[in-house]
Amino acid sequence: MQLYEYNAFELSELLEDKSISSVELTNSVIDRINAVDKQLNAFITVCSERAIGQAKSVDEKRINGEKLPRLAGIPIGLKDNISLSGVKMTCASRMLENYIAPYNATVADKLETIGAVLIGKLNMDEFAMGSSNENSFFGAVKNPYDTNRVAGGSSGGCAVAVSAGEIPCALGSDTGGSIRQPAAFCGVVGLKPTYSAVSRYGLTAFASSFDQIGPVCRCVKDTALMFDAISGHDRRDSTSAQREYLSCYDSITDNIKGLRIGVPRTLFEDICSEDVLDSFNSALAVLEQFGAQVVDIELENTKFALPAYYVISSAEASSNLARFDGVRYGFRASGCKDLNDMYISTRSEGFGDEVKRRIMLGTFVLSAGYYDSYYKNALSAAKLITCSIKDQFEKVDIIAMPTSPETAFKLGAKTNDPIEMYKSDVFTVFANLTGLPAISVPCGLAQNSLPVGIQFMADSFCEQRLFDAAYAYECARGAIAKPSI
Ligand code: GLN
Repeated sequence: MQLYEYNAFELSELLEDKSISSVELTNSVIDRINAVDKQLNAFITVCSERAIGQAKSVDEKRINGEKLPRLAGIPIGLKDNISLSGVKMTCASRMLENYIAPYNATVADKLETIGAVLIGKLNMDEFAMGSSNENSFFGAVKNPYDTNRVAGGSSGGCAVAVSAGEIPCALGSDTGGSIRQPAAFCGVVGLKPTYSAVSRYGLTAFASSFDQIGPVCRCVKDTALMFDAISGHDRRDSTSAQREYLSCYDSITDNIKGLRIGVPRTLFEDICSEDVLDSFNSALAVLEQFGAQVVDIELENTKFALPAYYVISSAEASSNLARFDGVRYGFRASGCKDLNDMYISTRSEGFGDEVKRRIMLGTFVLSAGYYDSYYKNALSAAKLITCSIKDQFEKVDIIAMPTSPETAFKLGAKTNDPIEMYKSDVFTVFANLTGLPAISVPCGLAQNSLPVGIQFMADSFCEQRLFDAAYAYECARGAIAKPSI
């Protein structure tokens, strides 16, 4: 087995007992990236020298006998909408093609402080808008299980890099499913934490009231390790929650006897492909064997979830993206005749089609005359959905559903039909509309040999419950065939 194939918690033990060095590990990861990334396009920037420098300093500390945190010396990738000081941050947009981040996001700071090796920046849909990772200025990311298929989006680069063994862990962002859906498509684990559990400082805003940073890893234990490393209050994010977090990694257990799992069957049964349903049902059967109790539940107003998500997220995006105007930083169109022409040309040339579609949609739903019928109604729908889901947690401990209605689709299959593309998020947007935590865990390969994901959602700040359920399931399920790349 090559070093790049190990999980982070295993690598941590190998580093701790000095069987390997971080420089060796980092070099193995860089070699792997060089060997496969041309085919996959998961990375936008690889910071080899910076990473080797970090790895060396961790190795020195260890040689000097310092006791280091678990992620010290482990290579980790960041989605390219998370600031890393002195490194390009493009958000996969022409608008920021040459933008160098002048400061660290809080999550990057936290990881660097504990000695993690930040190896590079990962491809994504432009400004995190998309469900297939085809909306990148730097080209689509390919699924390692079948390179004619999409990676999922928008954190496609994260999911692919982790799945293909380029890195053990990555941080992505999830506004409507962007961590969980690509994780499901690529056979890896993805967590969207409770809104406000992880600081958004230094994450380029898409829809600020939904955006959350979260981990993408190959196993549940690594996901807990990463969540422990990045969660916590941050005074630089005004929405960050003031609370103490216990280590989820240390408390993780596969004992789920009596865990009540609510399944909203009517929500997904008619929309899912047959093989997704089969894998989901077998996963539930495994959980039942382990002592979980499966209960049918009914969620109300769910048909409004997807439209409400797209109205609210586009409204917020139209405001958040107003800062990209060619004046202060980023791309500026040349040969403009006056200021107005400069704004128009910069934004027309700098943004891709999907981003422009969202800005127009968002501006429309916020405009006088339409505000009440679209934006305000969408907010009311989100509230109703939140109440209906929160109520369920009186009866059940977690809610389970497929992460996505189908497995990874062919590249180009939905690029001309935005609504079809948006439907990929039909099960993931609930966690964002409600602020609740949700995790996607691989539940086997479908008949077509592509990965399927099962999604668990819990009440606010109950990440531990998600990790336990996911871990118990993962232990029972056994290994899933890796991509053959
Ligand atoms: N696919 C969704 C969208 O395009 C979600 C994106 C995300 O979570 N960043 O808006």
